[in-house]
Amino acid sequence: MLHINNLHVYYGAIHALKGVSFAVQQGELVTLLGANGAGKTTTLKTVSGLLRPARGSVQLESESLHKIESHEIVRRGVAHVPEGRKIFPRFTVIENLAIGGYTRPKSVLGAELDFVFQMFPRLKERQKQYAGTLSGGEQQMLAIGRALMTKPKLLLLDEPSMGLAPKIVEQIFENIRAINSTGVTVLLVEQNAAMALAISHRGYVLETGSVILEGTASELSGNDLVRQAYLGG
Ligand code: ATP
Repeated sequence: MLHINNLHVYYGAIHALKGVSFAVQQGELVTLLGANGAGKTTTLKTVSGLLRPARGSVQLESESLHKIESHEIVRRGVAHVPEGRKIFPRFTVIENLAIGGYTRPKSVLGAELDFVFQMFPRLKERQKQYAGTLSGGEQQMLAIGRALMTKPKLLLLDEPSMGLAPKIVEQIFENIRAINSTGVTVLLVEQNAAMALAISHRGYVLETGSVILEGTASELSGNDLVRQAYLGG
């Protein structure tokens, strides 16, 4: 469904992605692993059109995403949940979700909202609360819920576990697995490799802007390099 081919991305003189290629099939949950600075966030931002590649391509089904604007990419079915969540703290939960649904016809928004509330009953309970007063875990749920309001085919998740207590991380990963099981394809970037591989079908390891390893989640979990670098031995 998503084919990334030979991507090169620069920040000025910094060559952040040096020929990244990988694919995500329809319905899969795929994790990108890698140390700080490996290029994971840059990859997600390039898929969602926030960054432009100097070379290479991003294909979603038959469309070339690297040639279109980011708001058009959202309309093509790609939703990006950024690192740090970026919810609107002075708006309520329901207002944040409505903002997420801006690309969809009003007539279908009720169905999207029902889906979000089914995935995250906590958001339903707190719908009138200001987003800035939610806990970190609830804010992450809201960031994912806002992305789901666009009815994505492909959900890009950047470090959803960041700054959250282990119990909450488990809950969020269970939510991600449940969303994927409804047919939404997921590309996940995570520092928490053990949790990410536990819910993923496959994964890729990025190192200094290149893919150095790929495999099924169980292959990667058993790989010596992955165990030493990302799973604590
Ligand atoms: P992290 O987990 O720390 O976010 P990452 O794997 O997501 O790491 P990126 O954020 O994609 O890595 O960064 C890839 C490279 O690009 C790094 O060398 C980083 O220093 C550089 N970089 C990222 N953002 C910028 C920027 N806005 N300006 C200049 N260089 C940047």
